[in-house]
Amino acid sequence: MNPRSIDDDPTVRARNVCRARACPHLTRTAASILALVGCLSADLWAAAPRALPEGQIPRDARLEPLKDLDGYYPFEPTDSKEGWTRRAERVRRQIQVSLGLWPWPERTPLNAVVRDPLDQGDYTIEKVDFESLPGFKVTGSLYRPKGKPGKRPGVLSPHGHWSDGRFHDAGSDAVRKEIADGAERFEEGGRSPLQSRSVQLARMGCVVFHYDMIGYADSVQISQSLAHGFAKQRPEMNARENWGLFSPQAEARLQSVMGLQTWNSIRALDFLLSLPDVDPERVGVTGASGGGTQTFILCALDSRPAAAFPAVMVSTAMQGGCTCENACLLRVETGNVEFAALFAPKPLGLTSANDWTREMATKGFPELRRHYTLLGAADRVALHRGEQFGHNYNYVSRAAMYALAWRNRSSSVTIAGSLARNSACGMTRIPPRREDRISSASCYALGPKTRGGNWTAR
Ligand SMILES: [Zn+2]
Repeated sequence: MNPRSIDDDPTVRARNVCRARACPHLTRTAASILALVGCLSADLWAAAPRALPEGQIPRDARLEPLKDLDGYYPFEPTDSKEGWTRRAERVRRQIQVSLGLWPWPERTPLNAVVRDPLDQGDYTIEKVDFESLPGFKVTGSLYRPKGKPGKRPGVLSPHGHWSDGRFHDAGSDAVRKEIADGAERFEEGGRSPLQSRSVQLARMGCVVFHYDMIGYADSVQISQSLAHGFAKQRPEMNARENWGLFSPQAEARLQSVMGLQTWNSIRALDFLLSLPDVDPERVGVTGASGGGTQTFILCALDSRPAAAFPAVMVSTAMQGGCTCENACLLRVETGNVEFAALFAPKPLGLTSANDWTREMATKGFPELRRHYTLLGAADRVALHRGEQFGHNYNYVSRAAMYALAWRNRSSSVTIAGSLARNSACGMTRIPPRREDRISSASCYALGPKTRGGNWTAR
């Protein structure tokens, strides 16, 4: 018999695990006696009491086939509100623990700096940095409408894995093709689709914070190649007192780039809500792809957002292909659709494209709709289908977001308004300004005794 087939037999593996755990302290004499008894009467073993019937293995994920990010992650709604309350608490706790955020780290002073306003006529852009942890900077651009007094809706805008992040420039050739395909309408807006949605939302009256993923644009303390493309262990980053992300020391403490990036999102929300012109009751979050992951994870854990629009990311298929979208324990017996479901009954908008979300209309969204219906909010979840396009947050999807996500029917509050103006006229792209980048230490280490958290961020 092929020895591997024995190893692969889950019943045999489970039995061997039980035996191994039961015997470590047996003396040699006792072991000999057992061996003798075993030889004399094999039937004694056969008659040994079993926890489960013959052929049935314990319900334990470790005994099931390995599942990676390309597995199948269905969502099965509960059949009662009470059942969902219990389930939601468990899944939220699982996310929080998995990301190294349980218990919550201390909210240390943000020491936020907002500077160098750029007047764009009907809106302004300011540079922002603040500390999500002592000495660790989060950077981004703050868009504010002009001529709209009073408290304004706030929007948090994570960007996803487009090159150069919030400074992404698709290039003139690519955008012309997109315009020809109906994916974009205007060349300036289409070349910079990430800035474009911030501009449009500001023109609609929102205060928008467009913040960097770790390692993108002005976020330079942890490199993009490390945070989003870790490929090689760093022995020098695995010392007893200090260590870096992706080391065994970090993994043993559930420290991950996804956890740090999620904490940055929570602190970005703290920053946005600290602004005097932002209405804390009208805050939304939207991003696509990896920014979609940031959106639904933030909205699963934090009760403050009133609307969410994670684009091209929620599905039962691929769950996130980057190191910043995965963490130990995160998706054990759950997945992205259920993470999005944690936002119910608040307004949730989704998009699909010709990518891993292409089957969302038949796998995932019907269950989400049933879930929202159970909670009495069937009309507050929407899927804008766009399988004719590749992976995107293009004009068509952005228009769906403007029109759907920010209309909070439950409180009769229009978070942003209607699509009164197009999203690109007069827009000026903001190129990278490297001389303005944050010039803090290139290597930032906290170690195990850091106040306010358990992070080592380098
Ligand atoms: Zn990433």
